[in-house]
Amino acid sequence: MYNQVIVVGGGLSGLSADHTFLERGGHVLVLNKNSFFGGSSTKATSSINGALTKTQIGGQEKFKLDPFSCISILGGHSQPHTHRGKKMFPGMTITYALMEGIEEIVNNQPDRARLIKKARVTKLIKEGDAAIGVEYVKDGQTCKEYGPVILATGGYAADFTENPLLKKYRLEIYNLPTTNSEGDGHKMVIAIGGGKATHMKKVQVHPTGLVDLNDYVTSEIWKTKLSKEIEWHFKHYVGRGLMRNFLVKHWQKKIGISVSQLKATKFFHNVPIPINDQFHVALMSPVLHYIMGGIDINAEPEVRDMQEQVIPGLFASGEIAGGVHGANRLGGSSLLGCVIYGMCCR
Ligand SMILES: Cc1cc2nc3c(=O)[nH]c(=O)nc-3n(C[C@H](O)[C@H](O)[C@H](O)COP(=O)(O)OP(=O)(O)OC[C@H]3O[C@@H](n4cnc5c(N)ncnc54)[C@H](O)[C@@H]3O)c2cc1C
Repeated sequence: MYNQVIVVGGGLSGLSADHTFLERGGHVLVLNKNSFFGGSSTKATSSINGALTKTQIGGQEKFKLDPFSCISILGGHSQPHTHRGKKMFPGMTITYALMEGIEEIVNNQPDRARLIKKARVTKLIKEGDAAIGVEYVKDGQTCKEYGPVILATGGYAADFTENPLLKKYRLEIYNLPTTNSEGDGHKMVIAIGGGKATHMKKVQVHPTGLVDLNDYVTSEIWKTKLSKEIEWHFKHYVGRGLMRNFLVKHWQKKIGISVSQLKATKFFHNVPIPINDQFHVALMSPVLHYIMGGIDINAEPEVRDMQEQVIPGLFASGEIAGGVHGANRLGGSSLLGCVIYGMCCR
């Protein structure tokens, strides 16, 4: 019997599991391979789904202080049940709050929670059929920790090693850009033999990922109601170098498009282009956005082997888990899945 659970990953799913165990009086060790927490979770821009929430039942006006009081209907949804706040990305809002919470517990109750950053978990340790711990590399040293393991390592599209899973399952889209995870958790489960991967060919490609400069968002948008709602997003992308803003009259110098060419372009048939207008500019590309496939789990979410038997001591939560969202995930459902499956690890 071990006196800790090991959570691998510091995205929303891992953080949800951490807090759940701590709330139940458990001891937690969090291992995260990056120096910062958040993974893809802090990048989640649209929202988180919920059904019959206070906002949906009571209307938005009543809940002005609720940071998720904006509600919208996303593509493929039949009802408006996707929530976000008025400013920051919803993924950022939720994940930062949980990060700060865990750091506070680590500082105030170090006997209950430990957090090791820049610790890359490389291997699951097995005893008989059960997973009993992990090996990880920190500062060039290989270390071992023991306890039940929760894998919350995200998707597998950004694996640029020699044998990436994406090349095996979807070679034709391998070269698309992505900010997804590297598939470490998937590979560890497959490596212990018997761990089952499911729906691996199901990869979501987003048609309009921001990769650099060149798409055009006119400042006309600033005059609409939408403008205030997405002002923070523009500032965020400009700050990260994914968007720039400058005046139309300066375009020719910056990206070699004259005002007359700009006026002639089909994107702008319904928008006036005053010479002193300010534009936000970014380059868009199809990107590997989300992986529906992954490690086979049950509702607990325990990892299952090829015979659909539970591997004792091993859980997988968040984007690493396969089959949760069917062939094509609805927007807003990943964050929800991260929170819920993280809470269901027991
Ligand atoms: C731009 C963008 C926008 C999105 N918008 C939305 C949205 O609006 N709504 C929605 O529901 N979904 C959205 N998604 C999808 C959603 O953000 C992700 O599916 C979700 O955040 C994945 O969370 P996770 O906890 O499973 O993994 P992640 O958040 O990716 O976290 C994985 C963590 O595991 C760690 N890790 C990985 N390997 C190891 C290892 N070997 N050892 C130790 N640590 C390791 C990483 O450092 C990272 O901290 C979006 C995704 C992107 C990229």
